[in-house]
Amino acid sequence: MDLADSRIVVGLNTPLHSDKSQEDTILVINCGSSTIKYQLLAMATEQLLLKGVFEGLCQEQGQHSYTWFAENGREREHTISLSNPDYTICFNSLTDLISEFKWPSPRAIGHRVVHGGELFTGPTLIDASVLTKIEQLSVLAPLHNLVNLEGIRFCLALFSHVPQIAVFDTAFHQTMPDYVYRYPISTSWYSEHHIRKYGFHGTSHQYVAQKTAHYLQTPLATLNLITVHLGNGASIAAIEQGQCIDTSMGFTPLEGLMMGTRCGDIDPAIPLYMQKATGLNATQVSDELNHHSGLLAVAGDQDMRDVLSRSNNGEPTAELAIKMYCYRIKKYIGAFLAAIGHVDAIIFTGGIGENSAVIRSRCCDGLELLGIKIDFDLNEPPNGSSVSLISCDTGNIKVLAIKTNEELQIANEVVNYIKSSKAQQV
Ligand code: ADP
Repeated sequence: MDLADSRIVVGLNTPLHSDKSQEDTILVINCGSSTIKYQLLAMATEQLLLKGVFEGLCQEQGQHSYTWFAENGREREHTISLSNPDYTICFNSLTDLISEFKWPSPRAIGHRVVHGGELFTGPTLIDASVLTKIEQLSVLAPLHNLVNLEGIRFCLALFSHVPQIAVFDTAFHQTMPDYVYRYPISTSWYSEHHIRKYGFHGTSHQYVAQKTAHYLQTPLATLNLITVHLGNGASIAAIEQGQCIDTSMGFTPLEGLMMGTRCGDIDPAIPLYMQKATGLNATQVSDELNHHSGLLAVAGDQDMRDVLSRSNNGEPTAELAIKMYCYRIKKYIGAFLAAIGHVDAIIFTGGIGENSAVIRSRCCDGLELLGIKIDFDLNEPPNGSSVSLISCDTGNIKVLAIKTNEELQIANEVVNYIKSSKAQQV
């Protein structure tokens, strides 16, 4: 897609239509390799107006599923089949949908961008130079940044008068000190090849940290937290005085905890040994570690619900996978407790962290002497609660289960960015 620079540099002072409601509508776009997810939010009330996903991108048959939310709280769903859906088809149907519902054009668009490297430490207004930098950073996340960029380019063309802001998965972790983010390897690998710990899932860690501060009615800047995001990917972050000081994911999202299909921490000599022993090439080994490891490798299933149900039925491989999964989380909790010293709360989030009382309790089992004590009854919170305290009064460290909302976090960051940019201009 060819865009003249003048079209892609949209400032925050770009004149807007007079419609009042436009002031507060933010579109959040999350482009993946085979899906485009989006949400349209009314920020005054943090109300979701529309959310949807395009699936099967660049395949013969795909679909667009979306849900829209009426003011009376009712929601309706719809799915449309799409043949050969590409970015043009998807983004055109999104703009058609927005106008069909007579929603105003969004006030701003927030784009999830996976890798911000060392260049981006917070939300950033997208202009030609930012596009170039995101493209340069794609060497660190080739599967992600290029598709993120593709989505941004389409939105810049379709919503040419709307400011667009990039929110980076890595940005929250940029506060890690050098002795944490550097690996003990040749300095030139860092200086020439940018090999260091970056961390991912930053939007989710930041969202639940802020939710915790709100729930505890304590400023985030005074809180020490350990946030445990357990979805298909999984990571854990150590947060001191509101700032990330360490996280389990590293140079890539492969390091750290055991995940659905990713191995997490293993001896770095293993991939090299296996290349020599089996003749697999680097791409094949990478595929093995990213897509055929973790729960899938040990239990034969990557979905934790299936693994749990098979373990309940006494299947040893499923039970082994759960033991490994929880043990590794527990080890990181212990390490981050030591790194931070005093911790106010541990927060479980992501599909598994939010929904599985068994996993939460097994991760904390045996940590009573460290002040972590799960309350059996509280650990089964009613469905739908967004923040649940699940620890006993007698534990020194509160344990919470919090539903993450990365899209809302991105939208909030966009709003805050616009506010602070305007304030600086005054
Ligand atoms: P993603 O990382 O793709 O956003 P999610 O955060 O939605 O993934 O998490 C997906 C994981 O959550 C899957 O392993 C799924 O089995 C697990 N999960 C969802 N609901 C439950 C539940 N009730 N109990 C256990 N695991 C669950």
